[in-house]
Amino acid sequence: MNNRPIPYGRQSISEKDIEAVVQVLRSDWLTQGPMVGEFERAVAERCGARYAVAVNSGTSALHIACAALGLGPDDVLWTSPITFVASANCALYCGARVDFVDIEPDTANIDVNCLEDKLRKAARTGSLPKVVVAVDFAGQPCDLAEIRALADRYGFFVIEDACHSLGATYRGEPVGNGRYADITVTSFHPVKLITTGEGGMALTNDPDLATRMRRLRSHGITRDPDEMEGAPHGPWYYEQIQLGWNYRMTDIQAALGLSQVRRLEEFVARRRALAARYEDLLAGLPVTPVTQLPDRKSAWHLYVVRLDLAAIAPKARRDVFEALRASGIGVQVHYIPVHLQPWYRNMGFREGMFPGAERYYHGAISLPIYPDLSYEDQEKVVTALREAIA
Ligand SMILES: *Cc1c(COP(=O)(O)O)cnc(C)c1O
Repeated sequence: MNNRPIPYGRQSISEKDIEAVVQVLRSDWLTQGPMVGEFERAVAERCGARYAVAVNSGTSALHIACAALGLGPDDVLWTSPITFVASANCALYCGARVDFVDIEPDTANIDVNCLEDKLRKAARTGSLPKVVVAVDFAGQPCDLAEIRALADRYGFFVIEDACHSLGATYRGEPVGNGRYADITVTSFHPVKLITTGEGGMALTNDPDLATRMRRLRSHGITRDPDEMEGAPHGPWYYEQIQLGWNYRMTDIQAALGLSQVRRLEEFVARRRALAARYEDLLAGLPVTPVTQLPDRKSAWHLYVVRLDLAAIAPKARRDVFEALRASGIGVQVHYIPVHLQPWYRNMGFREGMFPGAERYYHGAISLPIYPDLSYEDQEKVVTALREAIA
């Protein structure tokens, strides 16, 4: 038996993945080159999207998505508070304001009833959002059809934050195919569904959005004469026609990503098997897994349970969390509600504003789930949880 702690998530790297990276290191291209294009095509094809733009992080993908949609200082972006801070910060990078819509407590996804209510009120006061970032929490897609219908009615753009849900399906179709979202964004951080070390991607079916995002990831520079203001001075000529950033992905990362996306099916299948097993192993314990809706299949980035705080009293979530950590189980909490972060409190957000998210937060614990988690280690997790609660 080894006593290595079991993390909540981790990458799975094969010899083939390593070989793919080594080959790039022996080639002429290290930064964005042919592998980036191949990786983009592979993810676009897997997700059923027309265009894919690879960047150096999921956060960068959110930023160029917002910028390409024209989000600016007079605009507001809405998202849900149970997410990583990046889903909201992308608005601030564009000088826009952020507001939140409470979650549906069973799934921790944005509550479409709250969204509709808030839209109705915002329409009356002329403060409708320009963008809504719908976060597919833990890997389960949001109510995308309902969100799309509201977007068409109220005139906002939908960015689907699919950092947790690459490989998931909604009504039988892959996340990222653009049926409901204007842009879908994902992350290749090592704990996510596939990894490039750091990395991200924006998917869209709109050629103009794709062109704009490509430009924004590389300084706002174009080499396409049709986009230029002046005539090219010669073959070396390029123009900066807007302000962009250096958010490029390297070919080293893309080679790893291409090798990884070929394993996505296998990764998601394993995560689903682990999730099904957790459900059996946890039966009878005072914990409730995130509710799974019948018309969608999660990619299971996270396995979150909510503790029944009344049943475990006088123990609190913190006691259970610390006992698990002490037994070498790398549990986590996803997430501290974004509106309660000091940076957001400074904008006037307060406790009590999004009670669903706050209630959810007090009972949530993420148990380990990742493709290389053994069934034996999974059983250790559940035994440790049972002891921590007792
Ligand atoms: C990980 C994550 C991000 C940011 O991705 P990075 O690649 O770490 O920049 C954004 N949103 C959600 C929901 C995430 O989980």
